[in-house]
Amino acid sequence: MGKEILDLAEWKSTLTAFAKERDWEKFHTPKNLATALSVEASELLELFQWLTAEESTLLPQKNKDEKLRKNIEREMADVLVYLLRLATVLEVDLSKALQEKMAENAKKYPADKVKGLSKKYDQY
Ligand SMILES: [Mg+2]
Repeated sequence: MGKEILDLAEWKSTLTAFAKERDWEKFHTPKNLATALSVEASELLELFQWLTAEESTLLPQKNKDEKLRKNIEREMADVLVYLLRLATVLEVDLSKALQEKMAENAKKYPADKVKGLSKKYDQY
């Protein structure tokens, strides 16, 4: 399998052009984009709503339920679309934000302390 490449800057431009061509930028306020992001995350969650834990674990296996898997992929893409639009409108450098957050997470959750535990950082 080839290296997975997601060019955030390229996609941000593409999505901005998509909105501009449709005169939708006026709707893309931070509030509306954050709302849309949450709605799409909920649509993703809805697909898992009545699955057992085991059924959801089996999902990554191809050919299990192609239609459901495709729908999950589509909702994940929707989430990403609105996250990228929000980052554009708020001028957030997502690469930098991700790096900083993961550095924080590494400090909060040192592997030697939390290995195998699902506790929150204030519980250990
Ligand atoms: Mg959707």
